[in-house]
This record gives sequence, structure tokens and C-alpha cells, in this order.
Amino acid sequence: MSEHTITVAGVAVDARHWIGGERVASTQTFPDVSPIDGSTIGGISRGTAMEAAAAVAAAKAAFPAWAATSRAERARILHAVADGVEKRIDELAIVETTDNGALLRSHRRGVMPRVAHNFRFFADWLLKLEHEDFETRGHTNHVSWDPAGPSVLITPWNAPLMLATWKLAPALAAGNTVILKPAEWTPLTASLLADIAAEAGVPAGVLNVVQGYGSEIGDALTSHPDVRRISFTGSVPTAKRIAESAAANLTPLSLELGGKSPLLVFADADLDLAVDLAVEQYDNAGQVCLAATRFLVEESVAEEFTRRFVEKASTLTQGDPRDEATDIGPNIHLRQLEKIDGFVQRAVAAGARAVIGGHRVAGRYYAPTLLTDVAQDSEIVQEEVFGPVLTLQTFSTEEEAVRLANDTRFGLAATVATGDPERAERVTGQLVAGTVWVNCFFVRDLRAPFGGSRHSGVGREGGTWSFDFYCDLRNTVTAPDGWKNH
Ligand code: NAD
Repeated sequence: MSEHTITVAGVAVDARHWIGGERVASTQTFPDVSPIDGSTIGGISRGTAMEAAAAVAAAKAAFPAWAATSRAERARILHAVADGVEKRIDELAIVETTDNGALLRSHRRGVMPRVAHNFRFFADWLLKLEHEDFETRGHTNHVSWDPAGPSVLITPWNAPLMLATWKLAPALAAGNTVILKPAEWTPLTASLLADIAAEAGVPAGVLNVVQGYGSEIGDALTSHPDVRRISFTGSVPTAKRIAESAAANLTPLSLELGGKSPLLVFADADLDLAVDLAVEQYDNAGQVCLAATRFLVEESVAEEFTRRFVEKASTLTQGDPRDEATDIGPNIHLRQLEKIDGFVQRAVAAGARAVIGGHRVAGRYYAPTLLTDVAQDSEIVQEEVFGPVLTLQTFSTEEEAVRLANDTRFGLAATVATGDPERAERVTGQLVAGTVWVNCFFVRDLRAPFGGSRHSGVGREGGTWSFDFYCDLRNTVTAPDGWKNH
């Protein structure tokens, strides 16, 4: 324990950066606030260009040895990280819930086990990675994956450790060294992960964690000439800034951004299932990039769908995310609440009707909201709210449903509820979305590509797509008689 240790629900968290295998304090701190009750958790080291440079230098120095470490050894260490995460699931879960307000029960049972799985998956992937050699006029082509080098990973607050490890695990498995910058609203679990990684044998400088504001440390990281990859999950405006600063060095980018995904409900759907899928969109108080926030419902069933939706949504319990019975927790920040309410009030002023919700409730909570009478070109239909605010529009033909579904600047996901397999095939084939779910939602597998089209992102994560991003692929062509000189 040091003066920089903060205690969160009995768990000690170091508030300093983790650079080159050492804890490093900044001269200034920024406050980390819990959305549960608005209390200040503690002061976190506030990084600047100086810490960014130190972290990149540490990652650069550690790179040759980590890249040269055998695949088997890297895989062993990543499995040890997964073991460490599994041992500390309860601690990670309560710290994450205190920091971002998402449900403790889902952190414990769903999210943190998946964090461990992220490491196991890419450790195993590494051992299976192989490309069959092939011949060209007797010459042998051999494809190999060379780690790219120091990689900067920048992540948001809505699923902090989950999204960080989606990037970290493949980057480290591939042999890169990394600098992780978690969101300033949720820095805590990244610091715990640094401890876990060190205990598991990740060498000094291979994983570096720096804290701070995007404008102060973020730009310094993304514009650094020694950085070979940047992977970012967050908002569109930030992505554009990062793309600009990366352009100076032509640093390859992966961008996972926002969405305004549709849920299409056809009259032939199992309506109870459709309503279940619809109510799920309030998960994490609506702070989910993939959320299907636009309900598009066939005219003939719209009234019945709305009735059942309201009935079901009214059974949801809003409250302290640490309570087992809670379904919807707080929103992350007062600023975010104001933003959410601004969207809703402007929509209502423009003629929308709040079937449920439409207002703030005490503390940092927003009432689960469904808005109807919204125009396709209105702000509430076109822009990501990132809160528990959903809209409902109707359609009368399949063509109209597809047109409305595709008519935003995003393309992250779409969900289709239908009882007709032929319709499902026809419609899904026309949707602009990186993930399409049919009669289900949020089923994800690391072997599948994940990402968005248009303003929802650039590139894909998952399995081979993550791996390839963090590598420089090389093809070696050898003459028929091997290494002999000609
Ligand atoms: P944000 O863009 O405000 O911040 C994300 C991260 O970028 C933070 O760590 C922040 O400090 C950093 N940052 C800010 N300015 C920077 C700069 N100039 N240079 C470098 N880094 C900078 O996003 P947010 O509000 O934290 O996250 C919410 C957004 O993330 C939503 O739009 C949501 O849809 C999106 N999201 C997308 C996915 C996905 O996989 N597609 C997943 C989760 C969240």
C-alpha cells in the first residue's frame, strides 16, 4: 500500500500509471467519481505527453524480446493472466461496478469470465495459427505473421475491462507490446489488470497502462512516430481526431464506434420473443454500442407490440447496480444524463410522444424511455443517445422496413424478428450492419468478425481479423532448389 492506493469496496487499487514495470505518479490527479452515488472514489494520476512518451519508450524497448519469445511461452503467460483474472473475478466485478455503474451480477457472471476467456482464446489461437504453404511454378510461398510493434489501445467507459482485453489479448498474443489508455471515467480495472499481468509473468514494458484525458495524453499517444498500431473503441468525433493524428505517421487504425441499430419486428414474428428482445435494449442503462435503439414494427402488430412492451418494461427494477434485483443501473456521468435528457426534450418539442419515461429520476438515473411519433430524419432517430432511450416507428412493407433500417450514417448491428426463414434471409442480406441477429440478440463469439460499416467503424475485431491487424503479414517466396545461389 502506498499513498497512491485507493480502496474500492475493500479492494486496493493503485492510482498511478504502470510504465516499464513500475508504478509512476503524475504531478496532477483527476477525480474518479462513482455513478452509483456521485461520491469521489479517489484521485487518479493525470497523464500528459511526458507519460505518453515514457510509455511508448518502454513498449519500444520491451518489443524485441517479447516478439522473440516463443509462441508457446507467450500462450502460457496469457493463460496465466486468465488464471489471475479468474481468481479475482469478485474483486474486478465490484470495482468495475463501482466505477461505471453497470450491474454487479452481470460483471460477476458474464463480463469478467469473458475477460478471462479473451486471453485464453487468443493464447490458443496463437498456437493454431498457420497458413498452408503453396507453390507458384515450383516456388514455395510461406506466409508468416510478424508482430507490428508498440500498439496503442484506447477504450471507452461502458464496458471498460471487456473492451480493453478484446484488444489486449490479440495484441499481446501476436507479440506486440502495448500502451493501454482506459477512459478517464473508468480507470480502475485496467490498473488491477496491470497487477494481474505482472504476477502472471508479463515482462516489464510489454503492458503499459496510462491514465488521463484524451486531449492531454491521448493525442500524444496517437501521434507518436514509434507507435505501429492504434486500436480505438469510442465515439465518432474522437475517432476522427485520432485518424487525423495517426495520419502523420500513416499508423494503421482499427476503429469500433457508435451505432443506431434497428430492431425489425415483422407481423409474422413471435411477438413475445420480439418484446423480450426489445426490453433487452435497456441493458446497461442503454449504454451499449450494439443496442437496437430504433424499433421498426410492422403496422398491423404495432399496437399490440407496444402494449406488451410497456407491460414488460414496467416490471424492470431501476436502482443500485450492486443489488441482485436491479435491472437498470445509473448512467455514467451527470454530463451524460444532461446529454440524454437534451435529446429527449428536443424530440418531444419536435412532436415525439413518450409512451414511457421521458425524464430523469433522482440521482444519476434516467427513466427507461420509449418515444413514438418520430420522423425518420429527426435527431432522435439519426443520432446515438447512449442512454435508455428507444424510438418506435412503423412500416407497412418489407422494402420500407429495409429502407428505414439502413437510413442512418451508422452500420453496427441489426436485429430481425420474423417467423419466416425466407424473409429472414432476404432481409438480412440487404441490411448494412457488421452483425445481424435473427430472433436473438447479443450472441457473440470471438471466432466471428465484429465491427461496423460507415460511421460505426473501420476494420473488424475477433479471431483472425484481430490477429491480422496486430501483425505485419509477410510472404516469403523460395526458389525450387531452396537456398542455393543462382
Ligand atoms: P469517447 O470517444 O469520448 O472516449 C473514448 C476514449 O477515447 C477515452 O479513453 C477517451 O479518453 C479517449 N480520447 C478522447 N479524446 C481523445 C483524443 N483526442 N486522442 C486519443 N484518445 C482520446 O467515447 P466514450 O464516450 O468513452 O464511449 C462511448 C462511445 O463508444 C459511444 O459512441 C459508443 O457507441 C462507442 N462504443 C463502441 C463500441 C464498439 O465496439 N463499436 C463499444 C463500446 C462503445
